[in-house]
Amino acid sequence: MYSQNPYPQDYFANPLEIPIVLAGTFAELRSNHFHSGMDIKTQHRQGLNVLASAEGFVSRIKISPFGYGKALYITHPNGYTTVYAHLSKLAPKIESYLKEQQYDQESYGIELFPPIKALVLKKGELVAYSGNTGSSAGPHLHFEIRDKNEYPMNPMLFGINTKDTTRPLISGLYAYPISEDAQINKSNSKQPIRITKQADGNYIAESITAVGKIGFGIETIDRQDLANNKNGVYNIQTQFNGSTNFEIDFKTFSFYETNDINRLIDYDIYKTEKDKIQKLFIDTNNGLSLYKNTIDQGYLTITDSTSAVYKIKVSDFRDNESWVTIPIDGKLSQDILKKSLDVTPNYIYENQTSTIAEENVTVTFYKNTFYEDFFIDFKISNDTLQILPIGQAARKSFNITFDISKYNDADKEKLFIAELVGYKKWPKYSTTTRTANTLSTYTKSLGYYTIASDTIPPTITALNFKDEQWISNAETLNVKITDDLSGISDYRATINGKWILMEYEYKTNSLTYDFNDQISTEPHNDFKLIVTDNVGNSSTFEARFHRK
Ligand SMILES: [Zn+2]
Repeated sequence: MYSQNPYPQDYFANPLEIPIVLAGTFAELRSNHFHSGMDIKTQHRQGLNVLASAEGFVSRIKISPFGYGKALYITHPNGYTTVYAHLSKLAPKIESYLKEQQYDQESYGIELFPPIKALVLKKGELVAYSGNTGSSAGPHLHFEIRDKNEYPMNPMLFGINTKDTTRPLISGLYAYPISEDAQINKSNSKQPIRITKQADGNYIAESITAVGKIGFGIETIDRQDLANNKNGVYNIQTQFNGSTNFEIDFKTFSFYETNDINRLIDYDIYKTEKDKIQKLFIDTNNGLSLYKNTIDQGYLTITDSTSAVYKIKVSDFRDNESWVTIPIDGKLSQDILKKSLDVTPNYIYENQTSTIAEENVTVTFYKNTFYEDFFIDFKISNDTLQILPIGQAARKSFNITFDISKYNDADKEKLFIAELVGYKKWPKYSTTTRTANTLSTYTKSLGYYTIASDTIPPTITALNFKDEQWISNAETLNVKITDDLSGISDYRATINGKWILMEYEYKTNSLTYDFNDQISTEPHNDFKLIVTDNVGNSSTFEARFHRK
């Protein structure tokens, strides 16, 4: 494998000064996307030095309270770009470049594309400090290598790797009848198949009976040696009676296709049971480029009175393998358990635009919103819309519009569309646009939507100062902001009328100003903060503090 590796080795170095231990691997299955880099553990700490993986220049800086948090992009002379995300801070010369722009634009969230010569870096130069900003569940460095077309690549291909002698673990197996006449274990619905781990570490499935066109799905993860994290595997191959008929390879993908992960996995099982079953066949309208060596899209055709063997090989990057062997008896059964079809009045054709309107709700599904045709369960009662099944994945967003003309004008302004999520149907703000008498949102999730009202403005609490207090020794100004329902949309803070940069961390509801920014050197300071929620309720906080 290494002899054929066309990717430069030793060009990119470990971006941290500690050995690589992985909390996440490339292309592992995340919610609605494949993981585009590797997550390197930072010993539960923030503030570790992050080094340029190779020489180059800073080509992009993106700062957001969400997603990658504080992220730095370095473009290298060989055309690749490396990405460093969830940073706590950038190295001094990059940080001062950033702050100047943030003060100029009066915004914490910002995206910059510095000129090629502005921030040139040597390999191994300090570029940032690791952190936990954005959508990060704990301190770590998210590290990516992208090719010149912005396709993320598995960093292991470039020699960035960790010790791994542990083979992938297989925790679930499903068999899927595909053709109308297909049967598995006397049923025409998908069947969980029991697997047993053998003494040699491989797996044997219970023998199944089947006939017709069928396929399989597997639940699998990989662990590396130095941590217990459940990470993604590198390659899955299948064999039918000794010949390879399907292969999926997690080397690279494009950001355009990443949402099609919902076609790779059994989305219904994912939404209802949280398990990620990867289908070992290429379902209709699956646009992923990860497949190769595939015969008949990975499907098997089983005929009556035959016997066959299907094998699955799961590998990690270090070629540790786990095998599953599934004996199949071709057997046509006369009386089978028929799948119950949930027939409803509304049928969606994936290749057509459909609009469903009832009472005060109109939902428009554009052409190709879904991967397949299906019966949709559409109900509306008391301003709550139910559109099911929740396990039907969407490729594109669709539109939901509520007519709110029955509400009085004062109430209308406080209304928004909420998705009711999870077991407790918790109302979650869905980005709402309004006209005089309508509320409208775009979403990719079937489920429950309602009209909600938020009349309560955000709360603002000063954490390390009080009005008229002397705080000469404070290094930062810390404020907590929360909103009960629609959520924080915007904030603006000033000292003595001058805009100050407050960094927003949504996970801790905190705003932080760094006195090193030296916006005021006066002893007496008037601090003012205005926070606005997503329907426009706003709160103003004012306090005077003193410093010498
Ligand atoms: Zn990551």
